[in-house]
Amino acid sequence: MSGWKDNVRVVEAYVPGDQPDYPDMVKINTNENPYPPSPKVMEAVKNIQDSKIKLYPNFNAQVLVSALSKYHHIDEDKIFVGVGSDDVLAMAFLTFFNSKKPVLFPNITYSFYKVWAGLYQIPYETPLLDENFRIKKEDYYKENGGVVIANPNAPTGICEGLDFIEDILQHNRDVVVIVDEAYVDFGGTSAKELIDKYDNLLVVQTFSKSRAMAGVRIGYCMGNKELIKAINTVKHSYNSYTMNYYSIVAGVASLSDKEYFDEKIKMVINTRERVKKELEELGFICTDSKTNFLFAKHKSVPAKEIFESLRSNGIFVRYFNQPIIDNYLRISIGTDEEMDRFLDFLRKYFK
Ligand SMILES: *Cc1c(COP(=O)(O)O)cnc(C)c1O
Repeated sequence: MSGWKDNVRVVEAYVPGDQPDYPDMVKINTNENPYPPSPKVMEAVKNIQDSKIKLYPNFNAQVLVSALSKYHHIDEDKIFVGVGSDDVLAMAFLTFFNSKKPVLFPNITYSFYKVWAGLYQIPYETPLLDENFRIKKEDYYKENGGVVIANPNAPTGICEGLDFIEDILQHNRDVVVIVDEAYVDFGGTSAKELIDKYDNLLVVQTFSKSRAMAGVRIGYCMGNKELIKAINTVKHSYNSYTMNYYSIVAGVASLSDKEYFDEKIKMVINTRERVKKELEELGFICTDSKTNFLFAKHKSVPAKEIFESLRSNGIFVRYFNQPIIDNYLRISIGTDEEMDRFLDFLRKYFK
C-alpha cells in the first residue's frame, strides 16, 4: 500500500550553493562574509545563563526588535523578525500573495522566489531583464498580485536607486511590494525610508551577509504596522517560537557594535573594487556590483571552463548552468589573501 504517495505535496525545491569542505580551499561561492562577526557576539553567547534556556523565548523576539528599532530609527511595531530572511520572505509570500493575479519578479533574480510561489501555488510571471541586466520598470505597471524586487539584485549585483523603487510603488498601490535588501549594506540605498509614505512596502534585510551571521539565521522586515501585524498573525498560526534565545542574544550584540560593522563593510567594499579592476585587466567584464560579490564574464573563455579549472584547484566560485547567465561567474568577496590566490590562479591561467 502506498496510496499516501498520491497525496504528497509536489514541489520543486531551491538548490543552495555547494558547501565544499576541504583544507586550504578558497570558498567564494555562497556570498558569506569572510570576516567573523563582532567579538561582542561570541562574548554575549558565552554568557548566556542556563536559567534562560529552559524557558520559551519571547515569541516576538522583543529585545531584538527593540534593538533593530533603535538601530534603524523605526518604530518597533513596524519590524518583524524571522529565521533568516528566507523565513521572513516565505512568511510574507504566504501572508500577502493570495490573489489570483500573478506576482511579478524578474526572470533573473534570487531563485527562491519561484520556489515559494510554487509551494503556495501562487501564480507568477517573470518579466525579462534588459540586455544590461537592468529591471525594466514598465513591466511592473500591469495588473498583478504583488511585486518582489531584490535590490541590489542577485546574482547581477546591480542596485537601482530609490526613485526606481518609488516609481514601482506608485504604479502598484493596491498590492504588497517586497524589496529584498540582502546586500544593501555593501553600498546600496535602502527603501526603508519609504515605509511611512507607502503602506504597501515591505523592506527585507538579513544578518547573514553584512553581519557575518549566516549560521545564526536572523532576517527581518520593516513596513507599515498593519503589514507587520498581518505577517505576525500568520506566523502565530504556524509557529510562535521561530526565534531561539541564542539567535536573539547574538543579534542584539551584533547591532551594538557599529564600529566593527562599518570597518568590515569598508574592507569588503575595498577588496571588491580592487578585485574588479584586476579582473578587468585579465579580460573580464563585470557588472557594477553594490554587493559582496562580483558578477563577471570573460571576453573569450567560457565561464564554465574557468569555473571547472578553479574548482579543480580548490577555488570555489558560483556558476549558474541556466540560460542567459551561463557565461557568467559569481565571485563572492573573500579576504584579501583569498582573493589574491584566486587572482594569482587566473593570471597563470590566462598567460
Ligand atoms: C542570501 C539571500 C537571502 C537569504 O538570506 P538568509 O540567510 O535567509 O537571511 C535572501 N535574498 C537574497 C537575495 C539573498 O542573496
